Amino acid sequence: MAAGQAPPRPLPVPEGGTPAMSEWVSLAAAGKRLGVSGGDIRRAGYAKVTAARLDAWEHEPPVWLGKARERKRRSADKAECRPGTHLVEVSCCACGTVRQVRPGLVSGYTHLVCGPCGKAARRPDVPSRPGMVLVHEFSVAGFFDGYTYRIATAEERASIARAAALARAVFPDLPGGPGSDA
Ligand SMILES: [Zn+2]
Repeated sequence: MAAGQAPPRPLPVPEGGTPAMSEWVSLAAAGKRLGVSGGDIRRAGYAKVTAARLDAWEHEPPVWLGKARERKRRSADKAECRPGTHLVEVSCCACGTVRQVRPGLVSGYTHLVCGPCGKAARRPDVPSRPGMVLVHEFSVAGFFDGYTYRIATAEERASIARAAALARAVFPDLPGGPGSDA
């Protein structure tokens, strides 16, 4: 080593000293910037955070921060959708309200009616055709009732015919009864 040349020294870590009041960052604001909650930071042992420390954390996330972020990501995944599933947008066929649901919950239904519309006794607007039935299932996807408009099974046709015959016996003026041209 040449004489007179100072050996390399590590740079001082920019920490220490008493930061000015304006350099303090609230835990909530710090958490928001780091993508975790203020509680996560407090649990890591910090009652206060300085802007400088926040910068350092952002630059090089400490272990607790990585874990807190991972935890938050996992709980968000759980809340929205399980791994491997995605959400689809479905709408109420009466009022058009849109919600995101897991596709498995609504597959097979031809119509969905939202809770408020269901309470208002609104039903899917489907043509009344012989041999077709509209099957109603309550709360198939939480907010929605599901309807399936499909060809009636032989059993259903028989029971519809029985119900119609009964109705005609009680209300002879109903369309489809004897003497009606419908
Ligand atoms: Zn609706």
